[in-house]
Amino acid sequence: MLAYVTGAAGFLGSHLCDRLLREGWAVAGIDNLVTGDARNLDAARRTGRFTLVEADVSLPWTWRDRLPGELSAPRLVLHFASPASPIDYGRLPLETLAVNALGTMHAVALARETGCRLVLASTSECYGDPLEHPQRETYWGNVNPIGLRACYDEAKRYAEAYLTSAVRATGIDGRIVRIFNTYGPRMRLDDGRVIPAFCGAALRGEPLTVFGDGAQTRSFCYVDDLVEGIYRLATLPGLAGRIVNVGNPGEFTVTELAGLVSALLGVPLRIERRPLPPDDPTRRRPDITLARDLLGWEPRVPLDQGLPPTIASFRERLPPA
Ligand code: NAD
Ligand code: UDP
Repeated sequence: MLAYVTGAAGFLGSHLCDRLLREGWAVAGIDNLVTGDARNLDAARRTGRFTLVEADVSLPWTWRDRLPGELSAPRLVLHFASPASPIDYGRLPLETLAVNALGTMHAVALARETGCRLVLASTSECYGDPLEHPQRETYWGNVNPIGLRACYDEAKRYAEAYLTSAVRATGIDGRIVRIFNTYGPRMRLDDGRVIPAFCGAALRGEPLTVFGDGAQTRSFCYVDDLVEGIYRLATLPGLAGRIVNVGNPGEFTVTELAGLVSALLGVPLRIERRPLPPDDPTRRRPDITLARDLLGWEPRVPLDQGLPPTIASFRERLPPA
């Protein structure tokens, strides 16, 4: 069984490759390393069943010519390539729009051509600054279509529209996971997301940068839990066209998170306030009823248990002082 994973060198893509390989799959990862790190794939390479193709999936799929014949017919494609942190997509807005629009169109073309199943990585950002709380899959969202986040959230909404239209129009087996804030080993310390930002600052003895009043909330899912949910969505039968939230409903204010990180690292809580970025969602929490019903899935790792291994991985990556 062969799977393609776009965005394989990234945080989530690399964990998904490891999981597929553990389950006995052969995996071809496609990544242009724009935000990823090939070191994330060291364990995958050691299996002897992993191939990395360095290529931009927004371009036509010319990289497929570079794969040997036995790797030409995947059973499954996980389309995870996309800058994902506000700093990354702020730096790469047009590339982010391209990979979610053109990259998704290419992935759909591949699914039509080979008959493989396709899972699209979407995001809770599709709900924008939500007026419904917690967010169910039926909620249409509250998104600023021309704001600073639009290159990401509107791109993902387009990708969802393209995939669901393709399922209806062509009968491909496409599925969508709406991922809520996820953390764990292999996140980049400098990707600007709140958990690496707080852990990095606390490890360096610097104050934690809280944007706005810190009352905004997020619900943080440990990567192993997320991967389990995605693996089930990708492998269970009868889920074509389904869109499922996968995330941990445990909701924390940013200030609470700052307190927890400081406590776990045994350092006094020191906060430096910064302005709230435009369109920063006020609150976010997944309703995971559908994931429970369809996938028999729910998260197992609470934040205070997922943070220590995450912090340990940041320690290893911290440049020497
Ligand atoms: P990441 O930045 O660590 O990984 C993304 C990977 O995609 C990187 O390796 C990057 O080099 C690659 N990539 C980007 N554009 C590409 C292109 N045009 N061609 C080939 N490769 C390309 O991000 P992540 O956190 O692992 O996110 C992975 C996916 O999950 C993204 O689609 C993201 O939108 C989605 N997601 C993540 C989260 C989260 O909390 N981590 C939440 C919601 C959705
Ligand atoms: N945040 C913060 N300090 C930081 C980084 C982020 O206070 O150094 C806040 C940010 O404003 C947001 C929350 O933490 O309200 C989560 O930010 P992140 O970028 O991790 O995820 P997203 O906003 O995409 O959910």
